[in-house]
Amino acid sequence: CGVLGLWSPEPLPVAELLQLGLFALQHRGQEAAGICVSNGKDLVIEKDLGLVSQVFDETRMQRLRIQGANLGIGHTRYSTTGSNLRFNAQPLSVRSSKGILAIAHNGNFVNALQIRQQLLEHGAVFQTTNDTEVMINLIARYARLSLVEATARAMRELKGGFSVVLMDRQTVLALRDGNGVRPLVIGRLENGGWVFASETPALALMGARFVRDVRPGELVWVESGELCSMQVLEPRPTPCAFEWIYFARADATLDGIATHPARIRMGEVLAQEAPAEADLVVPVPDSGIGAAIGYSRASGIPLDYGLHKNPYTGRTFIQPTQEMRDLKVRLKLAATPVVAGRRVVLVDDSIVRGTTSGRIVQLLREAGAAEVHVRISSPPIKFPCYYGIDTAARKELVASTHSVEEIRQLIGADSLAFLSESGVRQAIGGPVCLACFNGQYPAGQPEEEVRKEAL
Ligand code: SF4
Ligand code: MG
Repeated sequence: CGVLGLWSPEPLPVAELLQLGLFALQHRGQEAAGICVSNGKDLVIEKDLGLVSQVFDETRMQRLRIQGANLGIGHTRYSTTGSNLRFNAQPLSVRSSKGILAIAHNGNFVNALQIRQQLLEHGAVFQTTNDTEVMINLIARYARLSLVEATARAMRELKGGFSVVLMDRQTVLALRDGNGVRPLVIGRLENGGWVFASETPALALMGARFVRDVRPGELVWVESGELCSMQVLEPRPTPCAFEWIYFARADATLDGIATHPARIRMGEVLAQEAPAEADLVVPVPDSGIGAAIGYSRASGIPLDYGLHKNPYTGRTFIQPTQEMRDLKVRLKLAATPVVAGRRVVLVDDSIVRGTTSGRIVQLLREAGAAEVHVRISSPPIKFPCYYGIDTAARKELVASTHSVEEIRQLIGADSLAFLSESGVRQAIGGPVCLACFNGQYPAGQPEEEVRKEAL
């Protein structure tokens, strides 16, 4: 998911600014989008299933344009827990002793079920099936604490990987789990206002200057126009490697590391680890482009445009059902004639279920490619992600049940190789979570019964 928050010392077109920011976070979730705005008195939420451009039509924008608005939050949703239903769209709101609260969340809590159970026993009522509601109910329950104190308390109780923005009628808060699994950055508007966003490209669109990342375990909020900070949890940084491998935008910089250059380095290391005798390097657009550039540079094999992507079909992966994914691969890509008679190195960022790669190898062969050597700029994904990336249930992960050689046969490639874990570490250059590759979960795992569901 993508999250966004904004606070301004004076009225601004908050709805329009948040809408712009959400456009820059669309790749983080395409199932639903929502915006909440306030002017200190009224608080309005508009949200629905669909893309940002579909959800925020003129009617909805008009409802969000409240007089004197100066703060708000936004969300783009990609469902990991809670199904793809309208009532699971965010921001979510609750009325509490602290007044009305609204929340937007990226990530997952691994102990959400236990906390939900405790809250139910204390009489809480849940309206959605997503675990964001657990956090907001937890905060609302600490009636005697200030909003900041209550939020800090909830951070201490919740485990997992999460970045959250939260508001009441006056202020905006932003926080990151102790491992900083999901990204979150801080920007400053020219009028002294503050912006919080999942990724830096949202800041630029909203006219905000990058200030810094929210630190792992840190809670920040705006008070009298100043940014206040509390280090609630001891920072043990292991941000998600998959943000650099695939998820974050190519123009983003997260925790000081730019994504596109990191992808180029992954491709360079991959070329060293797994060379191929070939005539052309062909990226799988768009997610394989960075790594293909690196592979080409390091190997000296020229890069070419061997696959055309139809730009009107959206991101393939983030589609909830298998039938939709299969159809979309066929709709999305076609081989160009440059591959005819050539030995091709096909570079992509990841293999999840294996359907995409198999289909693309077939496309290249139909277009006359002499050989197809598949190179993947991440290790085989063998374990589920419990921190907010839908790398699928374990049984659907082709690498959890097949060896590299078996996957090579399945996808019909002449050769297949993956980047090593140390190669990923080297290319990113900082400590990272690699749990979906090695099963070592730095921010904890859910209880047994939830784990079984993911297997
Ligand atoms: Fe990212 Fe994989 Fe860790 Fe999930 S398990 S946070 S996708 S590196
Ligand atoms: Mg891709």
